Amino acid sequence: MNGAPIQVENDASREDVPPLRLTVLGASGSIGQSTLDIVARNPERFRVEALTANTSADALAEAAIRVGARHAVVADESALDALRSALGGSGITAAAGATAVAEAAARPVDMLVAAIVGAAGLPPTLEAVRRGTTIALANKECLVCAGDLFMAAARRSGATILPVDSEHNAVFQVLESANFDQIEMLTLTASGGPFRRLSLAEMRDVTPEAALKHPNWSMGARISIDSATMMNKGFEIIEAHHLFPLPPEQLDVLVHPESVVHGMVRYKDGSVLAQMGAPDMRTPISHCLAWPRRMATVAPRLDLAALGSLTFEAPDPERFPALRLARAAMANGAGATAALNAADEVLVAAFLDRKIGFLGIAQTIERVLDRMTQAGDLAPPTSLDDVMAVDAAARRHARTLVVEAG
Ligand code: NAD
Ligand code: MG
Repeated sequence: MNGAPIQVENDASREDVPPLRLTVLGASGSIGQSTLDIVARNPERFRVEALTANTSADALAEAAIRVGARHAVVADESALDALRSALGGSGITAAAGATAVAEAAARPVDMLVAAIVGAAGLPPTLEAVRRGTTIALANKECLVCAGDLFMAAARRSGATILPVDSEHNAVFQVLESANFDQIEMLTLTASGGPFRRLSLAEMRDVTPEAALKHPNWSMGARISIDSATMMNKGFEIIEAHHLFPLPPEQLDVLVHPESVVHGMVRYKDGSVLAQMGAPDMRTPISHCLAWPRRMATVAPRLDLAALGSLTFEAPDPERFPALRLARAAMANGAGATAALNAADEVLVAAFLDRKIGFLGIAQTIERVLDRMTQAGDLAPPTSLDDVMAVDAAARRHARTLVVEAG
């Protein structure tokens, strides 16, 4: 969002519009695959420049060949030989390593889909932002870890940031000319995750398998666990604060188990504008890819008569302390939100490895932040290096606490 007036036109013939040159970071993941599904169904609309993945060379090569990409990159250097042989004869160039991912992000394109999971996505996405590339941003950690730096870089380069995250995309769709002073409250909905009805005692013993089973959305492992703890919604409040210039008290969370209403804006005259749709990420992704127009998708259509009713409830702060931790980190400052994400990455992995219990995720994050606050280690970062230093320190604290717990 660069504050420019937003105009959404009706879908019209695309014949006069040249193909969109596109790079996808995190092409092998859930968002990456949904993006490539849209691309493969609309080959005349897109020219794919580069695709990246972490380790999955075969899946990346298959996708690159399918959509006719020019360049493919794996972050993991040991996967380069496998990538080269899977691409053999296709004419698609290959590279490996974190620097090669950032170089892929720096190639000139019309739009970059940022769909890496975690802080690992920040350096390459920032590289594209600095070049003024329009970003379809799924990788919310860019804003949780470094929202001030990221948005300042976008303002400097003129890069437009389009929100892919369904709640933020919903808000983006119902903003009226970005008149933020007319807004009273911005609401992000949350499904409540698979444990919405469990007591704290029942949550203590939940397994990774149960936590990975999201009721409405099919997503990567990390965001699925973050949805179960509701830390994902905590991250999304921070994300919203950077995308839409509103103070934390004008950012609200509402539990809505059907995941049909994705986000809403209440204006100062009492009007509430909401965006609805079936829970399928191809709708918000395509909204970004076609913006400021719209494009047809095969996402399921909403059948409200079949659904019958939509329900809403307030989040429970006792059973879902992650929301409080995220708001406290936001009040504490940019160092704290970077530490919050880093600690969460380590502790979600520890839970998936069965080294800590489900409730231990939020409890241990709170201890990491307390330790770092007491040590004076959460000064707001002023550079990417500062962010990465806070990130590394939070990971060290989190790993130490996991070992102590084991
Ligand atoms: P995923 O785990 O399915 O995919 C992650 C992608 O990142 C993969 O392509 C993986 O290879 C790549 N990757 C992982 N570590 C990497 C590293 N160190 N270096 C380079 N690449 C790396 O995750 P996802 O569900 O697609 O989520 C991606 C991002 O989108 C996350 O930030 C998530 O919060 C956000 N998001 C996802 C959804 C969803 O429905 N899945 C919705 C909203 C926002
Ligand atoms: Mg979301």
